Amino acid sequence: MYAHPGVKTDQDHPVPDRMKAWVLGDPDQLTLVEKPVPVPGRAEVLVRIDAVAICATDLEIIHHGPPSSIQGGLPFNKNFTPGHEYMGTVAALGPGVDEYRIGDRVTVEIHAGCGQCKRCREGMYTACHNYGLNYGDRNKGHRANGFTTDGGFAEYAVNNINTLIHIPDTMSDEEATLVVTAGTAMYGLTELGGLVAGESVVVTGPGPIGLLGVAVAKAMGAYPVILTGTRDNRLAIGRELGADFVVNARKENPVEAVRRLNGGKGVDYVLECSGAANAVNEAIQMVNRGGKVCLAAFPREQVPVDVAHIVRNNIYVYGIRGEGKSATHRAEAFMTQKRFDATKIHTHTFPLDDLPTALRYARERIDDAIKVVVKMRGSEASRVAAE
Ligand SMILES: [Zn+2]
Ligand SMILES: [Zn+2]
Repeated sequence: MYAHPGVKTDQDHPVPDRMKAWVLGDPDQLTLVEKPVPVPGRAEVLVRIDAVAICATDLEIIHHGPPSSIQGGLPFNKNFTPGHEYMGTVAALGPGVDEYRIGDRVTVEIHAGCGQCKRCREGMYTACHNYGLNYGDRNKGHRANGFTTDGGFAEYAVNNINTLIHIPDTMSDEEATLVVTAGTAMYGLTELGGLVAGESVVVTGPGPIGLLGVAVAKAMGAYPVILTGTRDNRLAIGRELGADFVVNARKENPVEAVRRLNGGKGVDYVLECSGAANAVNEAIQMVNRGGKVCLAAFPREQVPVDVAHIVRNNIYVYGIRGEGKSATHRAEAFMTQKRFDATKIHTHTFPLDDLPTALRYARERIDDAIKVVVKMRGSEASRVAAE
């Protein structure tokens, strides 16, 4: 059985020595293998994973590699387990941990920064200067599970306590996997952006972050909240999550539509989640003078940007890379209070053994898939669409 010096376990929550885990071989090659169950160190716990959502970034990592970095290089053929949007149950405690108890239900955020660099000290641990340094004599203790360390397409993972968020029994496993996505939108709008109630927001691109960006902006008291996109079914979900107005960019010019819907003026914020090549130029035309553009998606190629317009109009443009400053905790608080129903973006569920199918549904958006969730056990872990 699982027994390691200084690690606390509980006979009511037995932990095996080995577990099922998917590992990345060559690009797009995932294999289900057995691995040893990892061992938590100081300030870490072992999480039994109960559910994991698939993110567009997982598809990017599995196909191209970056932004994953394993031992200073590409993640291929390194026995690496991807997957980062997971939740589960605390199964063992590392030495000295009393912040969590075995049996606690938790969801995770991704980045445990090194804790010693300038950005970590500022709470911007997603921008840790020691990203990916967790090996050899350059071990700074950085972890980003599913990016630089083993992630959630497995039965167990080790997490720093600073990456855990308690969740209530009223929140389903599937919903809990969406907390970090809402937390990412929240970090962009509030922590980095400084959004306060009554300000106006446009969200461009109704993917998971965009749709939960709408929900968070509305829950924060923004008005109006305008969602632009090209697919009417996605825009309709945006409406249900709180968008005051939606604009189909195939049917009308989105810049003109935003100004018309906001009393002839630009808005205070644009949360750009489309990654379209012309998205930055459109976003800087949608904001008012002194407005802010948060970039949460990107095109693969470089694109020309109208810098003169940004300068002349005092526009702020900033990128976000995931969650930060514990925004995920505040997103969880909104979701626990049912301020919005994140499950509206959860469309499909598959068991762990069917991960390749789940990835295909997410990649090809089969059957209008938005968030595809993989469940580890139980009767719900069957090949069914969510309600
Ligand atoms: Zn993600
Ligand atoms: Zn750091």
